[in-house]
Amino acid sequence: MFFGKNPELVLVDTGIIARAPSRFLVAGMGDALATYFEARSCAKSCAKNIPGGIATKAALAIAKLCYETLLEDSIKAKVACDAKVVTGALENIIEANILLSGIGFESGGLAAAHAIHNGLTVLSETHRFYHGEKVAFGVIVHLVLENASMAELNDVIGYCKSVGLPTSLKDLGIDLGANNIGVARLMEVASAACAKNETIHNMPFKVTARDVYAAILTANALGTYCSTEK
Ligand SMILES: [Zn+2]
Repeated sequence: MFFGKNPELVLVDTGIIARAPSRFLVAGMGDALATYFEARSCAKSCAKNIPGGIATKAALAIAKLCYETLLEDSIKAKVACDAKVVTGALENIIEANILLSGIGFESGGLAAAHAIHNGLTVLSETHRFYHGEKVAFGVIVHLVLENASMAELNDVIGYCKSVGLPTSLKDLGIDLGANNIGVARLMEVASAACAKNETIHNMPFKVTARDVYAAILTANALGTYCSTEK
């Protein structure tokens, strides 16, 4: 849902967030994880951001800071939230999840990760998972699509595992074998991700449903078997 005007004020009571289940906070991290990679792809392709402009250097810097803050503070913030206390790390993650990710995606633009999320919603098995949880897996698929470096894939997969974000289809309740999902249903996901108005077309190269299908299966295998040890 898009509104014609930004909010006058975003008021966040960090004490309330600290007392909420940490799964909500971690789902926010998963959503924020996409911000930098999607903005980076949009910058490469000169794609339009959400209001229809072109990303500024400031937007990209905010998106990058969002990712760096996640890498630095997520585990510390999650344990603080589990203990129901507010710490500096929790404050930083709340800033990353809400402010840096919010401004970063709006001004930087969206690309494959969110389109993969939208595709995954075709499967009812994923409905019990939060937006950011599906987006996190979408980020891994996004990186496979652009053939990102193994180091970056390891960083992102390791990060997701460290905070408990899904890195495989199984983690999202999708059982390829027993649940009879098969090739056809994964192709449905891939086709939905490539719908005409999807942000996947903001990637700096042409993306087809076949490419997405291949990237989902590859991301699933990497997220299942990749060692996160350096
Ligand atoms: Zn999102």
